[in-house]
Amino acid sequence: MSRDPRYDILFEPVAIGPVTARNRFYQVPHCNGMGHAMPNSVAAMRGMKAEGGWAVVATEECDIHASSDVLPYAEARLWDEGDQQRLALMADRVHEHGALAAIELTHSGHNVSNRYSRLPVLGVSDAGVNSFDPVQACAMTKRDIADVRRWHRQAAIRARDAGFDIVYVYAGHDLTLPMHFISRRHNRRSDEYGGSLENRVRLTRELLEDTKDAVGDRCGIAIRFAVDELLGDAGIASGAEGREVVEMLAEMPDLWDVNVSDWANDSVTARFGEEGAQESYVAFVKQVTSKPVVGVGRFTSADAMVSQVKRGILDMIGAARPSIADPFLPRKIEEGRIEDIRECIGCNICVSGDWTQSPIRCTQNPTMGEEWRRGWHPEIISPRGSSKKVLVVGAGPAGLEAAMSLGQRGYEVALADSGDGGGRAVREATLPGLASYKRVSDYRLAQIARSTHISFYPGSEMDGPSIRDFGADQVLIATGSYWRTDGLGRATFAPVPGIEDHPQCLTPDDIVAGTLPAHGPVLVYDDDHYYLGGVIAQLLADRGLSVTLATPGPEVSCWTQNTMEQHRIEQALLERDVKLVPKHTMARVDANTATLTCNSTGRELQCEAAALVMVTLRAPVNDLYFALAGQQQEHLDDLPFGILRIGDCMAPATIAAAVYDGHRAARELDNLPDPDTVPFKRERALIDGP
Ligand code: ADP
Ligand code: SF4
Repeated sequence: MSRDPRYDILFEPVAIGPVTARNRFYQVPHCNGMGHAMPNSVAAMRGMKAEGGWAVVATEECDIHASSDVLPYAEARLWDEGDQQRLALMADRVHEHGALAAIELTHSGHNVSNRYSRLPVLGVSDAGVNSFDPVQACAMTKRDIADVRRWHRQAAIRARDAGFDIVYVYAGHDLTLPMHFISRRHNRRSDEYGGSLENRVRLTRELLEDTKDAVGDRCGIAIRFAVDELLGDAGIASGAEGREVVEMLAEMPDLWDVNVSDWANDSVTARFGEEGAQESYVAFVKQVTSKPVVGVGRFTSADAMVSQVKRGILDMIGAARPSIADPFLPRKIEEGRIEDIRECIGCNICVSGDWTQSPIRCTQNPTMGEEWRRGWHPEIISPRGSSKKVLVVGAGPAGLEAAMSLGQRGYEVALADSGDGGGRAVREATLPGLASYKRVSDYRLAQIARSTHISFYPGSEMDGPSIRDFGADQVLIATGSYWRTDGLGRATFAPVPGIEDHPQCLTPDDIVAGTLPAHGPVLVYDDDHYYLGGVIAQLLADRGLSVTLATPGPEVSCWTQNTMEQHRIEQALLERDVKLVPKHTMARVDANTATLTCNSTGRELQCEAAALVMVTLRAPVNDLYFALAGQQQEHLDDLPFGILRIGDCMAPATIAAAVYDGHRAARELDNLPDPDTVPFKRERALIDGP
């Protein structure tokens, strides 16, 4: 297939100072939870983007000095030559596939606590650090400013020598020293670096000049700048100082990478922001500068990308998440394979890798972060082994991914589901803000429909005899899970006394099936802590019910801190007058009253609850597996087929985890790793010894 001529414009080269990008696809900096700690993993992951057709592939933020130490987060680091060698791995991988490598040089100012280096924290002014750490930053002297400029310059030279083609000055996300200087909120200086905007921009201007002078002959110089902080008059705004900054520096860099701040606004989830949500803020930039402009907007639609370029909003299509969900997005557009694009669902599971200090993962792309340690390629999978016929029971995220990947390996796959397929991805997509979750099943069902190796049987309830009769060589059980009604959860270690007699006790399974409480008041009890408790409380409040959300967690939907949604969820609930009761655990239920105990004092709180919605734990639907394998798996060796349980039917978790489990099972069929060895490569710390 060849590409649709409508998309030709996306494949035009773009000059960025002395270097040229082969097309308009630009992987902007994004964190990955691996950073300097896992240089091989990062190099392989970034190299995959280059192979997939991105013209520019950037690092995440790259700290230039030990006084900018972001521990516990693992970002890129360029403190010395040892770091330079490790970063060169990435530049090399990116170059192997004809792309440009960009590096986002960063000094974090008072955004860090220097937990590792234990150096004093340098800030634009005396200030608290950007965390609850009991540490303050000291206002930088002119000598300190000169130090930072020198470190930045040295880092730029090392970056060039490591092979990078584009070097950034990073003034974005409220995370970096240049932006702290620009910001009236942070900058309380009275010298020539404070006061007027001209003064506050001085450091950024100097860093641009220094970088241009040091490496500008060989490297394109980029600036990343947040044109709007979405704080109104209190912050930088695109209609005011945001625009003025771009006007002041307009022609200095070779490329403008613009976005909104902070990171939660920049990487807003699909639940709270549409594709292209930043357009109204960044649209002015191209009117102010003649230099190429890159911006982001969770773009997965080629038409939307073309529209950005044709309407003069952006010159290059920036992407972090769409490039994570599908590293081969540009190649697929180029080859006319639009339907093969794995579209980002905007869930921010990728972001959670950074916040939980774990290697990046993605709901849509199970190979993300596994390129080096497991050798997984998003588009290539090994041919089948000795088995031929595989039966997958359950077409939720785990079963769909397993069936699709096994078909790609060349197995003859039958996929049976008692319903229409899609599992929880389809069910949850009916809830407010979660429509994009359906992309998980849409993509896989479409791939399966086109595969000559896979037969999908919806409306097929399987049981032990029908599975035995099927005559498969291998059976994968992916029958999912259901929500418990008894209250057993993370904080409530046993069923809640009295709950079985409550007249209206529902679970998320009821809500997604359309069974809502007949009347309130409703108590949503959330001992799950991810998104569902909050979403359901919101839905019920929107239906006019009086809703209380109680949780043993410190705040509602507390795990969504890791997807940068918690503050928005809490705001949405408070705006709907949902009563929030954090740090309370359900003790018992008597008729229409639930008794909650305060986690701190043990004091009891009575809560009227004509209806209960229990969002606690899920129970695996594993009876089919155990009927065949035996309760203690004692029949496994006697069955005429291999059998495996995957996804939620093994242990309920996120959709991302179910997809990953299905993918791993598909890769490992006929190819099981030795259970006594670590099934992936590791990046070990150096040891100092003979
Ligand atoms: P996961 O997240 O692990 O993929 P889901 O709960 O999303 O789990 O999906 C499980 C799927 O399995 C559902 O679509 C359900 O209809 C299907 N299923 C459950 N039991 C059976 C069965 N006995 N036969 C066929 N399909 C089943
Ligand atoms: Fe998109 Fe979710 Fe994947 Fe992140 S984890 S790239 S938001 S699908």
